[in-house]
Amino acid sequence: MINHPITALPGIGPAQAKNYRKLGIETVRDLLLAFPFRYEDYRTVRGIADLSPGETTTVQGSITSIRSRRSPRAKMMLTEATIEDATGTITAVWFHQPYIAKTLKVGDKVSLSGKIDDKFGLSIVNPQFETIRDNGPTQHTGRLVPIYSVSGKMAQKGRRNAVKNAMMALGEMKEWIPSGVIKDYDLATIAESIMALHFPEEQAPWERAMRRMKFAELLVHQIAHVKARKHIEKSDAHKVAMDLEFVKETIFNLAFDLTGAQRKASFAIMQDMENGTPMHRLLEGDVGSGKTVVAALAAGNTAFQGFQSAYMAPTEILAVQQASGLQETLGPELQIALLTNSYQEINGVAATRKEILDALVDGRVSIVVGTHALLSDDLAVPKLALVIVDEQHRFGVEQRKKLMTSRGDIVPHFLSMTATPIPRTLAMALYGDMNISILDELPPGRGEIETVLLRPSQDKEAYAMIAEKLRAGFQAYVVCPFIDMSEVSEADSVKELKLKLEKNHLRQFCIQELHGKMKAKEKDEIMGRFRKGEIDVLVATTVIEVGVNVPNATTIFIEGAERFGLAQLHQLRGRVRRSSDRATCFLHPTSMSGSTKERLEAMVKYDSGFMLAEIDLKLRGSGDRFGTRQSGLPEFQFASLSDHALIAQAREVAEKILESDPDLELEPELAAELERFLARNAPE
Ligand code: ADP
Ligand code: MG
Repeated sequence: MINHPITALPGIGPAQAKNYRKLGIETVRDLLLAFPFRYEDYRTVRGIADLSPGETTTVQGSITSIRSRRSPRAKMMLTEATIEDATGTITAVWFHQPYIAKTLKVGDKVSLSGKIDDKFGLSIVNPQFETIRDNGPTQHTGRLVPIYSVSGKMAQKGRRNAVKNAMMALGEMKEWIPSGVIKDYDLATIAESIMALHFPEEQAPWERAMRRMKFAELLVHQIAHVKARKHIEKSDAHKVAMDLEFVKETIFNLAFDLTGAQRKASFAIMQDMENGTPMHRLLEGDVGSGKTVVAALAAGNTAFQGFQSAYMAPTEILAVQQASGLQETLGPELQIALLTNSYQEINGVAATRKEILDALVDGRVSIVVGTHALLSDDLAVPKLALVIVDEQHRFGVEQRKKLMTSRGDIVPHFLSMTATPIPRTLAMALYGDMNISILDELPPGRGEIETVLLRPSQDKEAYAMIAEKLRAGFQAYVVCPFIDMSEVSEADSVKELKLKLEKNHLRQFCIQELHGKMKAKEKDEIMGRFRKGEIDVLVATTVIEVGVNVPNATTIFIEGAERFGLAQLHQLRGRVRRSSDRATCFLHPTSMSGSTKERLEAMVKYDSGFMLAEIDLKLRGSGDRFGTRQSGLPEFQFASLSDHALIAQAREVAEKILESDPDLELEPELAAELERFLARNAPE
């Protein structure tokens, strides 16, 4: 049963299955392992006489009347029910849900969770509801109620029921952490964890389950890395000599001086590459710290020595941008190919895919820049000596392995670049198989960036300031709130914001929308026009988060700022920290609860991604709040940067397991979980 498609569950047909598929859920097993992203706390059950307006709570009692009627004034269907318990009566009111009057009937014992109001007498408005039979346990009310991602016509209730039904298959769930490890580290089993995370009764078992899930994912992550290291240690790489003349001249021709950190990192990389053992280096640097030029030097030197490099970017926009950046740094004589699904060019001139493949084989092209299209099987780069991956987390370990190993006996040197500010000690624990370079200083001469935290009502003033900047010839980004899967589509919300700006605050300017659902060609065309200055304002989702570089854009306005994590806000702000002109970042939250304020104020106060990462850890406290997860590390669903001890333990265990059982032959379930981890972290 557990590996059956979810249509095996009662109430899930092909149409619903399609919605589940959109959430990555195909089998019963997938469903059991797709956990709620938060819980609604409906644990307090109160007598009706004790209720006070404004509180969110649960009441339980019998229905003494129920009916639906059309409210002529409000122009909608109203369902009203009277509920009675031993202490009093209350009215339950639902809007737009006439079916409820058919579902519930007089005499039913019900449990209702929601907000208490006193506008129409004592009432509970649009409550969650369910009937209680034989005093059995409640599922949608009167407890911690799980809230899941939903898609299409999928309701929370439906999803909860599906999970409950899937629990019947729990006995078939195979444990993948070796039993000795479970015992030694006192971990919850997978079955216990699934129970506790979907339908938690109490905090303690929930925390134990979280700890197990974190450990499990860290263990598999470490196994992948330790395996990769073992593989690399046994492999050979091309020895690429560093040509000091070339390096000096290239640096001399740059429009700026390298920072000390850039210089150090470049030399470390080129020295690594002089060895016959493959380099495995992580280049970490805050947004705007200038990682690209470091990579360009290494790739240029590699080309100068007669070898080839591949540069993988996470998106087409970035691939296009990096190809032209490399060309600019390294000069027009160097042959650079751009290869993505939508673009095939050599030195900026359109070419066919076949022409590029041929030019790579015969060595005319020295550097190929692309997206994961570079992983295609028909791509052969005979003198490949260096692979550069920008924003490493977007690529799976497996993809790296594929690039590194499928080209014969020689393994290319590997440089991975990331803007995720992981403290060095932690990076060493997490990516112990890599050497690490950190760009810890920003290029000089950057203008200050001012971050302004707006009150919800202050957006008009901010937009007026933006209009002034636009009139002076600068450009701006407006970022749309992060969109939950259960809400309106990305495209709609971007469009709506654009219309609002066109009608009101930014009437006289050219505004363009940009979102992830657009075709790559369309996105690039828009970015191209924005870069050329034909567009004044880009209204976008977080597609602009990673790496986009348009120095003339000096203002960013982030709508719904409370919905973003600190790391993400910092990345977004980095988009306007690219020029020497004064840049401004407006944060416009739509609500401001306690921790939101602290978080956003940290953005105003601090400019360094490393600093913000630490504050993020502190604000989140020792663990995650009950039910909210935000790891800060994209390859993790559960673990976060604060899990130092677990990371170290997982590393120990991974080393120990692989030492005696390098191919996991004794642990087939762990091997299977490793496969799934690798597949999950593969680019889409
Ligand atoms: P990131 O580390 O975010 O990838 P980039 O490599 O895109 O940063 O660099 C950001 C901008 O800073 C680019 O326009 C680049 O040309 C410029 N830049 C890089 N290094 C320096 C430097 N040492 N001095 C001045 N500007 C620099
Ligand atoms: Mg970059």
